[in-house]
Amino acid sequence: MKKVFWDNPYQQSLETVVSHVDGNVVVFAETIGFSECGGQESDTVTVNDIKALSSQMDKCAPFLIYYTFPEGHRFVPGTNVTMKIDWLRRNRLMRLHFTCELILVLMNRLFNETPEGVELKAEEIDTIIKKRGAHIAENGARIDFECDVNIAVYFPKLLEEYNKIIAADLPIEKGFLDETNQTRYWRLTGIATVPCGGTHVRSTGEVGAIELKRDRANKGVERIRIHLKNNQTTSDPV
Ligand SMILES: [Zn+2]
Repeated sequence: MKKVFWDNPYQQSLETVVSHVDGNVVVFAETIGFSECGGQESDTVTVNDIKALSSQMDKCAPFLIYYTFPEGHRFVPGTNVTMKIDWLRRNRLMRLHFTCELILVLMNRLFNETPEGVELKAEEIDTIIKKRGAHIAENGARIDFECDVNIAVYFPKLLEEYNKIIAADLPIEKGFLDETNQTRYWRLTGIATVPCGGTHVRSTGEVGAIELKRDRANKGVERIRIHLKNNQTTSDPV
C-alpha cells in the first residue's frame, strides 16, 4: 500500500482502487489519508464522498491502513474510487506536528548544551530532559516533560531559537530511516534529525509563529501547550 501522504503531503485528492473489503473495513491500493501515529491525529478522509468513521495503521508488515465506513458503503474490490482529505485539518496537523517536535529538539539542545551549528542526533534526544508524552490535534499540540521547575522559565529562550528557525525558512528534509520497517525521519541540517512517521511541510517558513502556554500535567511533569498564530493554511494543496 503506497502511502502518498509521505511522498506528497500536499496531495488532497487521489484516484485509487479498492483492494480489500471486510464488512465495513476497507483497504485501498494507495492512500493520502494519514492514520494516527506518533501523536498526530488521523486525517478526515472521504472516499466517493463517504466519510470514513475511523482508520487504523498496522504496526507490522505489510503496514496496511484500514478505513472503517458506515453500514451500506458498497465498496467493491477492484473498483476505482476517489479519496479526499480535509486539507485545512491536514495543514494544521502537519504544522503543529513540526512545532511540537521542534520544541522537543530545542529543549534537548538547551539541556544537552549542544553548541550552535552542531546537529543534535536522534540518540541524544531524551537523554537529559525526558519527554513523557505528546499529542497533536487540529487546534493545538501539547508536549510533556519530566521537569521540577515551572517550564515557562525556558519559553523566552525556546521562542527566540524557534523564531530564528522559522524566519530562516529552512528546508525540512524527510525520508525513510528503514523502508522495510516503514520508519521515517525529518531533518533540519545543522539542527537535528528526528525519527518521525508523521507528515511535514516543505520548509520552516510555512509552519509560522506559535504561542506557548504552560500547564502542570502531573507532579514532576510539566506540559507545554502550543498554538499556531495563523490558523489558516499557509500553503496550497496539490
Ligand atoms: Zn513525529
